[in-house]
Amino acid sequence: MTENNLDHVIGDLFDKMGRLRDSGVPSLELHEVGTILSISSGIVRVSGLPGAGSDELLKFPGDLYGIAFSLEENEIGVILLGDETKLSVGDEVQRTFRVMDVPVGESLLGRVVDPLGFPLDEKGPVPYEERLPVERDAPEIMDRAPVREPLQTGIKVIDALIPIGRGQRELILGDRQTGKTSIAIDAIINQKDKNVVCIYCAIGQRMSSVAKSVTRLHEKGAMAHTIVIVTEGNNSPGLSYLAPYAATSMAEYFMEKGRDVLVVYDDLTNHARAYRELSLLLRRPPGREAFPGDIFYIHSRLLERATHLNEKDGGGSLTALPIVETEAQNISAYIPTNLISITDGQLYLSPKLFELGVLPAIDIGKSVSRVGGKAQLPAYRTVAGSLKLSYAQFEELETFSRFGAKLDERTQKIIRHGRAIRECFKQNEMSPLSVSEQMLVLLSLNNGLLDTIPLSKIREAENALCMATQQIPADLLKRLLSDQSLMEPDSNRLLEIASEALRTFTYSEQNTTEPTS
Ligand code: ATP
Ligand code: MG
Repeated sequence: MTENNLDHVIGDLFDKMGRLRDSGVPSLELHEVGTILSISSGIVRVSGLPGAGSDELLKFPGDLYGIAFSLEENEIGVILLGDETKLSVGDEVQRTFRVMDVPVGESLLGRVVDPLGFPLDEKGPVPYEERLPVERDAPEIMDRAPVREPLQTGIKVIDALIPIGRGQRELILGDRQTGKTSIAIDAIINQKDKNVVCIYCAIGQRMSSVAKSVTRLHEKGAMAHTIVIVTEGNNSPGLSYLAPYAATSMAEYFMEKGRDVLVVYDDLTNHARAYRELSLLLRRPPGREAFPGDIFYIHSRLLERATHLNEKDGGGSLTALPIVETEAQNISAYIPTNLISITDGQLYLSPKLFELGVLPAIDIGKSVSRVGGKAQLPAYRTVAGSLKLSYAQFEELETFSRFGAKLDERTQKIIRHGRAIRECFKQNEMSPLSVSEQMLVLLSLNNGLLDTIPLSKIREAENALCMATQQIPADLLKRLLSDQSLMEPDSNRLLEIASEALRTFTYSEQNTTEPTS
């Protein structure tokens, strides 16, 4: 018998013993024990565990764990999930006979945890009833239903022009400091009292940024429906690599119970970097930009798990908002293009708009939602109507108008309308608008009621419209939020309410003379 065969026989034997132990049959207390050969940058090489399976959890001294990642002939490359300084060469390593899993369940809501489910807040250990593996198969095609229900972010420009549906994957991309995280946090805040569970997965960020986001969620009372999973920049790359999969398993627990879930991965650039680091340390061949060849696969198998399930499977949904950072506005770089092709659309944030104070800095021309349009409420779709087209026309004409040419009346009107749209789509962070408020504002905008108001007064006018939503009769409000389309009498009634609210805002020619930005 060759040495190799012997290894396999011993491996099989240990496997069987593991299974016996798992099935509760009493057995001799025997462990398969390996030895640490080397430790460097979060990767541990281990020998003497020939039976260990791929992705199996291995136990190190001091309650440290690692994942068997690369199985080679005489040794295993293990991703360490914790602090390597506690280990030394020659230490014992034990098999656990299980794959990596995380605690899931209701008790995690309101908590800040690491990707292994250990608490990072001051509320003590996290009680849990169930654990789920971090790597799970995505739902089958036959178990999936089309995206039908909207996921309102409360941000006008997104809900009106680039709507997101429950079960959709929408990428948020942009250079650094362009407001990517703010959009995701606002979307979470807006799910308060809407029966949507939210998971915010911070990957390799600075602790101060994470603390800022968590404080915002607390301030707005959004933590009650949210789980925050955090890996810091200086954590081991293994933890960062694991974080989004752990977050998705926690989300799937709720989805499989028929609930709607929103998961934010902030951001997958750091995730790709952590995976690149691990792969290079494991001596896997580098490909484009030194990323390993399977980088597309690690993101696609993650995002494939987002979906809307059939009624017979509970009808739950998992909406994913992955975030990716671009460099110098290069959206055709390797990782951004991968993610653009995996997701169902993207929100592109432009640093130029950010500088001009058009916040949120969403570049409407470069942003798209491939399935969300079908999920908009019918009445909402009617009021948002032709805004996208009007805005696109305006952007084109505005460039011409910069040359100082004398413009005809029709062109001036389009420009006036476009400027009102742009002004109206500006929105502060942490101030989401309800669906009815958005409907009244967008209806007024679409019907040109805001075109004659000076740009500096548009914010005030919008506030007046939001106040006026209280005058919408209850039966009309119910119809607006139902799956019925907007009938003419209803739309006229809304316009009456809007005109009344805007009565004090006087006519002005200012919009035509406002300098172009
Ligand atoms: P990073 O690249 O560091 O992750 P980011 O793209 O996630 O940054 P944010 O941290 O969300 O960007 O926002 C950057 C700054 O812009 C923050 O100070 C935030 O308060 C501000 N900001 C974002 N959106 C808005 C908004 N709609 N109104 C006002 N300020 C905003
Ligand atoms: Mg951010």
